[in-house]
Amino acid sequence: MKNKKMVTVDGNAAAAHVAYAFSEVAAIYPITPSSPMGENAEAWASANRKNMWGKKLDIIEMQSEAGAAGAVHGSLVAGAFTTTFTASQGLLLMIPNMYKIAGEMIPTVFHVSARSLAAQSLAIFGDHSDVMACRGTGFAMTCANNVQEVEDLALVAHLATLKSKVPFLAFFDGFRTSHEIQKIEEISYEDMYSLVEEKYVKEFRERSQRPEKPKMHLACENEDVYFQGRETVNKYYDATPAIVQEYMDKVAKLTGRQYHIYDYYGAADAEEIVVAMGSVVDTFRKSIEYLNAKGKKYGVLAVRLFRPFSMKDFVKVIPSTVKRIAVLDRCKEPGSLGEPLFQDVVASLNQQGRGDIKVYGGRYGLSSKDFPPEHAISVFDFLSKKPFNNFTVGINDDVTNLSIPLKDSVNVVPKDVVSCKFWGLGSDGTVGANKNSIKIIGNYTNKNVQAYFAYDSKKSGGITVSHLRFGESDLNMPWLINSNADFVACHNPAYIGKYDMISDIKKGGVFLLNSTIPSDEVFYHLTKDEQQQIIHKKIQFYTIDALDISKKVGLGTKINTVMQAAFFKISGILPEKEAIQLMKDYAEKTFAKKGEEVVKKNWAAIDGAADALCRVTIPAKVDPKKCFKPQELIVGAKKGTFAGDLMLPTVSLKGNDIPVSKMTFDGTIPLGTAALEKRGVAPDVPVWDKSKCIQCNQCVQSCPHAAIRAKQIDKNDLNGKPEGFDTIKSNTKNDRDLEFRIQVYPEDCQGCAVCVETCPVKALSMNNYNAVMESGEKERREFFEKLPEDVIDGADVNTVKGLQFKQPLFEFSGACAGCGETPYIKMVSQLCGERAIVANATGCSSVYSGTFPSSPYTVRKKDGRGPAWGNSLFEDNAEYGLGMRIAVDSSRTLLRQKIDELFSLGCSNELKSSLEKNIRLWNDMSQESLDAQDATKDILANELKETKEKDKKSVLSKIVELQDYLSEKYVWLIGGDGWAYDIGYSGVDHAVA
Ligand code: SF4
Ligand code: SF4
Repeated sequence: MKNKKMVTVDGNAAAAHVAYAFSEVAAIYPITPSSPMGENAEAWASANRKNMWGKKLDIIEMQSEAGAAGAVHGSLVAGAFTTTFTASQGLLLMIPNMYKIAGEMIPTVFHVSARSLAAQSLAIFGDHSDVMACRGTGFAMTCANNVQEVEDLALVAHLATLKSKVPFLAFFDGFRTSHEIQKIEEISYEDMYSLVEEKYVKEFRERSQRPEKPKMHLACENEDVYFQGRETVNKYYDATPAIVQEYMDKVAKLTGRQYHIYDYYGAADAEEIVVAMGSVVDTFRKSIEYLNAKGKKYGVLAVRLFRPFSMKDFVKVIPSTVKRIAVLDRCKEPGSLGEPLFQDVVASLNQQGRGDIKVYGGRYGLSSKDFPPEHAISVFDFLSKKPFNNFTVGINDDVTNLSIPLKDSVNVVPKDVVSCKFWGLGSDGTVGANKNSIKIIGNYTNKNVQAYFAYDSKKSGGITVSHLRFGESDLNMPWLINSNADFVACHNPAYIGKYDMISDIKKGGVFLLNSTIPSDEVFYHLTKDEQQQIIHKKIQFYTIDALDISKKVGLGTKINTVMQAAFFKISGILPEKEAIQLMKDYAEKTFAKKGEEVVKKNWAAIDGAADALCRVTIPAKVDPKKCFKPQELIVGAKKGTFAGDLMLPTVSLKGNDIPVSKMTFDGTIPLGTAALEKRGVAPDVPVWDKSKCIQCNQCVQSCPHAAIRAKQIDKNDLNGKPEGFDTIKSNTKNDRDLEFRIQVYPEDCQGCAVCVETCPVKALSMNNYNAVMESGEKERREFFEKLPEDVIDGADVNTVKGLQFKQPLFEFSGACAGCGETPYIKMVSQLCGERAIVANATGCSSVYSGTFPSSPYTVRKKDGRGPAWGNSLFEDNAEYGLGMRIAVDSSRTLLRQKIDELFSLGCSNELKSSLEKNIRLWNDMSQESLDAQDATKDILANELKETKEKDKKSVLSKIVELQDYLSEKYVWLIGGDGWAYDIGYSGVDHAVA
């Protein structure tokens, strides 16, 4: 190569780099995890970057992926090299146009960071479900295994599409590869252009539609010719594998990296091999090196060209000694004979004379489930014992018993590789700081680097775990660091006792804890198990009060810069002076947009960190009296309950251990589960000053998390109140001499201080979480929770103040701290949540509302009514909600009909008058109609029991079946970004928010 350059980038950036070079137009629509490809391209276009023909890319963002695909199609037909970037449902929306583009044999490359499809629930993480749904479109499909391959195979795809005329879908694993940062060799546009054959460029232009050379792109063919028309393309597909290989060879000459459409790695005389696609191939390669070095003879066959599948080329690379093959698909096709790659392998072997080989298909890694070397080793173990078809790896399927047993963890990582793990809190800047760290190490040392970031499902305030590796060896290790870490940092002291962080650290490794506790005491604030591990493994334990430094320099709770500086000081990866200067340069780059003052604050944080770092003295043994006892993570987490079997393991990050039998088959969970999860993530929480409070309830209304509440309290209910449970006389005009209290829920608070800022009289102030909890606020919160809800006496429920005395039916969501949407959803839930069915579009609001296992939607204590919540797709929310509305109306119409039928057949006076009351309140939205409905249910049940007449019994049964529709419902549409309105009842449009 003429221009050799190493860059530290992720898979999305690598793909976008090539797509930009070859494209004149990009029609896009953002979707995780492909959005950064479009964002990169947009940023480069804004900076006037030129493609390989000297033109800036024209980017158009459409209204949906379907629109983007239509625009791509039109742009291609009219003669511009056009691309797009997408994933998941977005890719599925492109399928109709993909058939057209392939049917018209138009060269293009779609870049896809492959992701799960929404089934029982949405999942934003990576697998091959989306791309496999496109295998019939006629697009050729290449699959890259790591970040370097993403760039190299994107180049191959762009070159091959020109010559073959077959459009390409170039895919790689969503998140695992799209978001993994690696140091790779960047191919310059000049070097790429050296491989372009201009005759194919001219051919493409020549085929474009223009009045100078007009032709018709057919709209319609009939049964006489359509079939023949479809068969015309065969020769192009037959030629494509050789064309792809031709360009793989040319790219190899340019870069020195040789790929084949099917590559075999491992023992030349293997009897058992695996066939797979994507990042898992690198896991198998590393595992096979480890196993074969111990005398085993295994291999892995990497499929880099999935469509067109070349049976001949595929079978050619399989060693003649092979007797058993496990084919691993990263997708699930329920009801099929086997997943797509398995079926292709079976057909290829049979048709190419290797039908003697036994083939077993299995599934793994759905939605980015980690696939470490021990899983790879388990597959070989399984193959050599009693293999069966349709197996799964990485889960415990105790229902259909298809999962294979898993081996214990092994260390296949070479000695020169340093593995580091950072536990942060969503939005605390840990991920950003680690991205900077890995770029500093990548760009300023000769080491290879790898960074991968794992997030939990909370929008913010959730856990982030950064997995960083660096070393001389290649770092194509697409699995998480879950053992033998050299360095583990905990940026949030609330994680102590909650998550198992220490057992990841190797003997003699380093543990860095951000904590406000002095270094001579901090050890005793660890749990007994954590203390024992530190002593036993001789772990070097450091602590730093990052919050103190951040606050002093004016960065508030943003501790990331301090923690980054501490990491560089301890790790010694760069000389301290040099590291400090580089960190300062990166801070300037990162925060320049926010102004000089922010940059300077970060510099001060970097300078402050070095002095504040303390090495903790470790005692020789654990003193059981001096150990931290963590709070329960989930309230009432008993075995056999949803909280115990599903919530506790999930929030403790042990969700991988949940067996299939515990999961619901239809993707439903109970309401009110967010209230069981006491996260305690806010460093500071509000404290109420009753002497200043004017009882306006604005703090309650403004809280995005329903973590501060107001109640009017009957004095009799205050018997047995805990110490410090202060109340003041309620200032509403009630006739019960009620008391008033503002109660903060410290464990549910996110520390956003919105309530403090909202309070008009400064009756709230932020105080240290630990101090507040130690003062007995947990007991006070528990007592407050049990007090009666909805004591509105003397207040008007149609005012801010009155409404905030009602129980919110949306609480403690995982939305970002200070979210501006959730106070409105909470308010609507207080207004009419007891009658709501929610059609939620996909986006922020669906993630903070409906992510397993926490439901912020809850039910009224008095009658169990609450919002019934559902989510279809990003694209069809209005239609989904409309369907709900139609169904409610339909059920109510049938119910009304049956009531009339019952009246004509005759029924008891008690039931008649009860039903007549319901009819009178048919469209009434007051509590009275709900009371009438509840009262009728008992009477109906009794009448059904007593009735012997067949016709009447049948009508009564139908009424009982439909009795929940005696009261009218609201159907809410909530958009992905949180807008909410009601689509009416009985045909009336009725805005509620
Ligand atoms: Fe609610 Fe934020 Fe106040 Fe906590 S600090 S109670 S989350 S508004
Ligand atoms: Fe009291 Fe302030 Fe809350 Fe109003 S906003 S109820 S004054 S604490």
